[in-house]
Amino acid sequence: MKTKAIDDPSYPVRKSDAEWREQLDPMQYQVARHAATERPFSGKYWDHFERGRYDCIGCGTPLFRSDSKFDAGCGWPSYAEPMNAEVVERVRDASLGMLRIEVRCNKCGTHLGHVFDDGPEPSGERFCINSAAINFAPD
Ligand code: FE
Repeated sequence: MKTKAIDDPSYPVRKSDAEWREQLDPMQYQVARHAATERPFSGKYWDHFERGRYDCIGCGTPLFRSDSKFDAGCGWPSYAEPMNAEVVERVRDASLGMLRIEVRCNKCGTHLGHVFDDGPEPSGERFCINSAAINFAPD
C-alpha cells in the first residue's frame, strides 16, 4: 500500500494552507490537514444516529450513510463501509510505531481516520472516523 502526502498534487481539490485554516476551525484543521485524532467520546457524532449522510469537511463530498453507521464502543463514529469505494482513499500509515491503513477523502485528501478489519459482516471492516472530519446532513 502506498504512502502519499496529504497535499499531493493529484488531489482534484487543492487549497493553500492559509485557505484550509480559514475554512476549518482549529480542531477540524488539525484532524483534516495534519492527521490528528480527536479524543474518544469527544466528537459530535460518536453517539449520533439520525438518518442522513456524512460529508467531507474539506470539500463536501458525501462519504458515509447513516445506514452503515454502528456503535463500535470506541468513542468515534464507526461505519461498515463508505457510500462507495471511490469516495475514500486508503493510504499506508506507519506512524506511532504501528502499521495502520489511513482513510482520506479521495477528492481533497482530508484525513478522515483509519480502517480496521474488525467490523461487522458482510464488509468485515470498521471505518473509524473523526467527527471533526465530517459534517452531517439529515435526509
Ligand atoms: Fe474532501
